[in-house]
Amino acid sequence: MGHTGTIILVKAANRREAIKNARDFLAAYDRGRVYDYYRLGGWWSGLLTGYTPRDNPANREFCVSCNGTGKNRSNANEPCFQCQGTGKSLKWEWARYKGDVMPLSDVKDNVLKCLGNWRDDELKRANEGIAKYEKEGDESMLGWYLLKKGNRLCDLFTWYSAVYDVEEESNSVPD
Ligand SMILES: [Zn+2]
Repeated sequence: MGHTGTIILVKAANRREAIKNARDFLAAYDRGRVYDYYRLGGWWSGLLTGYTPRDNPANREFCVSCNGTGKNRSNANEPCFQCQGTGKSLKWEWARYKGDVMPLSDVKDNVLKCLGNWRDDELKRANEGIAKYEKEGDESMLGWYLLKKGNRLCDLFTWYSAVYDVEEESNSVPD
């Protein structure tokens, strides 16, 4: 399976409650079958605020690829590909960042940007897939795109949802 980033909108009185409500939703929705694993923030850390995890020294570690030298082993004129010549490569798991849980009013522009044309695009992708695999007679792929279309038309939460509003049960951002 791939990795995707989804913004979950919940009603909550504070930060702690927001995290709990999001976790409860993820565990309960479709009996937890949408995701096999998730992290708060994760590889999408900073999406809401513009923070860049790669610039945080806490997310860097000794680069084993170049033994911390920053030099490319096969071409001395090039920097190490793994750490871009810094001698410190990006960690696999990043430090938790507070800005990954925010009041919607503070980050609404970025949330709207992430939602973008998701609703239209998702339907378009589904219809294109249906047309293609109907023509090719690939029933398995056709089924997958029909499911994708059904999920979209029923406005369900899926692993490729961009922004999901738990209260409204909708792939959208409230006014
Ligand atoms: Zn390196």
